[in-house]
Amino acid sequence: MNTCQLCEQPDETGSYLCPGCTKATRVRLEGLPVLYRGLGALLTPAGGVGQGRTGKGGPAPIPVSLDVLDVRGPGGMAGLLESWVDAVRHDRGRPEPPHTGSPEGRVDRACGELLGHMPWIAVSWPEAGEFAGEIRDLARSVSSMIRPPEPDRGTRVGNCQSVDVSGAICGAVLWLPPGERVVHCGWCGMSWPPATWAQLKTWIDEDTKARDAA
Ligand SMILES: [Zn+2]
Ligand SMILES: [Zn+2]
Repeated sequence: MNTCQLCEQPDETGSYLCPGCTKATRVRLEGLPVLYRGLGALLTPAGGVGQGRTGKGGPAPIPVSLDVLDVRGPGGMAGLLESWVDAVRHDRGRPEPPHTGSPEGRVDRACGELLGHMPWIAVSWPEAGEFAGEIRDLARSVSSMIRPPEPDRGTRVGNCQSVDVSGAICGAVLWLPPGERVVHCGWCGMSWPPATWAQLKTWIDEDTKARDAA
C-alpha cells in the first residue's frame, strides 16, 4: 500500500493521488476559470472604485488588492497553470505549442487540458502531489479574495465568567473589539476592564478544564 501525495493517507489504488484528492483536484480545476472571472469582476469599476483605503481600521469595502492584480496579471493564474500544462506535455512527450490568447481563454484552456490529463496525473505522474497541492493553494487563495471579508469582531477572549444569582456561569463568548480596552459581554452585560483580565483568564482556564473533564 502506498500513500497519497496530497493528503498523505494510505491509498489502496497505488496511485500518486487517492480517489478523494483526485476528485477534489478535478473540482478545483473546473472551478478555477469561474473564480478567475470573479476576480475580473472585482477589478471592474462598480461605483465606488477610487475611494482608496478607508481611513479607520475595518475591512476595505472594495477588495481590489495587489493580490488580485498579481493573479490576473501576466504570469499570474494563467502562467502558473500553463507551467503545469507544459510540464505534463513534456513528461508525456506531447507537442508543446505556445499559449496564446486572452488571459481568460488561457485559463480556460489550461484548466481544460489539465483536466484531460488528470487520469494520467493521478496514476502515473510523480509530480502529482506537488501539482495538486499548488492547485489547492491557488483555489484557496483566489476564493479568499472573492469571499467578502468577515466583520472584524476582534480578538476572541474566551467564555464570560460572570455568575448569576443562581450560581450559573454566563458562558457567552467574549470578544475584545479592535481598539477597545474593555471586554463587554453582549449577553449578560458584564464588563471586564483590563484590571480583571488576569482573574478572568484564570477562571476561563479552570472552566475549560472542568468542561473538558466533564
Ligand atoms: Zn489523498
Ligand atoms: Zn456574560
